[in-house]
Amino acid sequence: MKKALKKILFVTSEFAPYSKVGGLADVAGSLPGALRRAGGDVRVITPVYGDTLEKVNKSGVKTHRISQRLEIDLGGFRAVCTLHRAKVDDVIVWFLDCPQFFSDKIYPDYVDPWTVRPFVLLCFAALELHNVVSWKPDVFHCHDWPTAPLPMALAWHKRYAAEHAGAESVLTIHNLAFQGVFTPQDFVDELGFDRSGFNMDGFEFYGNVNLLKGAIVAATAVTTVSPNYAEEIKTATGGNLLDGVLRSHSEKLWGILNGLDTRYWNPAEDKYLPARYSVGNLTNKLKCRAELLKQCGWEDDGRPLMTCVSRLTTQKGFDIILKAVPELAASGVRCLFLGSGERNIEEGLTFAQSVHANDMHFFKGYNEELSHLLYAGGDMFLMPSLFEPCGLSQMIAMRYGAVPIVRSVGGLADTVFDGVNGFVFTDFSPLALTDAVSRAKACFGAKDKWRKLINNGMTADFTWNKSAERYMRVYSGDKERI
Ligand code: ADP
Repeated sequence: MKKALKKILFVTSEFAPYSKVGGLADVAGSLPGALRRAGGDVRVITPVYGDTLEKVNKSGVKTHRISQRLEIDLGGFRAVCTLHRAKVDDVIVWFLDCPQFFSDKIYPDYVDPWTVRPFVLLCFAALELHNVVSWKPDVFHCHDWPTAPLPMALAWHKRYAAEHAGAESVLTIHNLAFQGVFTPQDFVDELGFDRSGFNMDGFEFYGNVNLLKGAIVAATAVTTVSPNYAEEIKTATGGNLLDGVLRSHSEKLWGILNGLDTRYWNPAEDKYLPARYSVGNLTNKLKCRAELLKQCGWEDDGRPLMTCVSRLTTQKGFDIILKAVPELAASGVRCLFLGSGERNIEEGLTFAQSVHANDMHFFKGYNEELSHLLYAGGDMFLMPSLFEPCGLSQMIAMRYGAVPIVRSVGGLADTVFDGVNGFVFTDFSPLALTDAVSRAKACFGAKDKWRKLINNGMTADFTWNKSAERYMRVYSGDKERI
């Protein structure tokens, strides 16, 4: 890539705060603004799911419908899409509206050649965008398997490869566990991909299509969301079968730590909190704590509150949390969970609450507003992940003065340091977890030490500034990673 100001298009299946499943949304929602402030010409295209546009309008952002429709050929079927242009955080965003393909639910329950079509549509729409707006991207910045078909199309699509000759792509891997793997029937030829890409050095993977692999091979640069995860995914234990592919493309792989939208995640201005506070005066944090206790129906008995806001999946360490329930209940720390996800974990947490009603509480579901109260009202924050590409929750917790207790893995190891701003354990075992909780509980009693941990967390730099500069270097083709 040459050093010149390039036009960057973010192509993303999630865009916080309007459509969100996890951290990908937060990144796509806050990085473009940071890049813009760093001098980048960055714009975004993202789908309209169900009530997305209502949410946008409710947030005070005006949308403007573009009169010319986008017509996309999806294997003989012409999808007619409307674009709504908006300015979010000083960044132009095109919301792609096609109700035939996008509904309330962002991701399908399983991936196959048909259920991935909405995301192929998103990618093709990004490639057709210049036909209806007078702006043609030089770099397409894609995120995880849903937008992996775009780098693939630049390399192997019969029409788009030629139409965008010279265009570059960046793939950010937010989570290597999800790759978009399915049989090639009804995909390769139907959607216009050249058969030449369906081989070992392309998007074929043991007879299947693997979208993420295709994009890793095809992209100009690949980034992932923390330096430590960039190393882990090149190993057999952390590589989810793609470690070999990643090793052979390691010259273009960057580990860039995620930042936070520190204006949104700001306890001093958080509209969702009953009282706002900052590092100099934590009195109002106690009001948040009191509200959280009230929502659990608990009296304050002086025990620390350890919160956890999470997707309920094996990745997040619920195997060891559920096994440790009796010890946690007896640890002198009260545990509060907010999450939704796998049914067995939901049932496990519901059961834990029924047995230990005064020690454990489970808020089932996805609740943005309540999540802020758990960060603000908590004394500690639990994140014992099996693997963790970056993790935003531990950074949010620190910003809100909740001391994180984490397993030393992925981005957690890059952001939490034992005895400095949190508590860290290594073994993926209930014993190691409860030991770390006991150490945190003991420290909670030593007020000065505890306050130091809180201060270190609350004053750390979680902005995008440094990382945005690194992304700018990726776009400019810089090879120097430091
Ligand atoms: P991941 O992307 O793997 O889910 P991250 O820690 O990177 O994990 O980001 C999770 C984001 O999703 C955080 O902003 C967290 O507050 C939010 N989140 C997760 N579960 C819930 C929930 N049940 N309700 C509200 N917010 C949630």
